[in-house]
Amino acid sequence: MPIYEYQCKKCNCVFETLVLGKDNRAPACDNCGSRQVVRKMSFVNTSGGSAKNISGQCSPKPSSGFS
Ligand SMILES: [Zn+2]
Repeated sequence: MPIYEYQCKKCNCVFETLVLGKDNRAPACDNCGSRQVVRKMSFVNTSGGSAKNISGQCSPKPSSGFS
């Protein structure tokens, strides 16, 4: 089963999701729930060549529940 990487346009969070069968719809971002996500082609190395580790940019929202 293919696992695709998506990047959220809204918060730049990169997340992986399992894509089942013909379900091509964009999943919601793990971090902010936005569906403004782009699928990243894991086999394509984008030009530039610098090893940017964008995975891990996802910082959890600070929970401001302590009031
Ligand atoms: Zn997001």
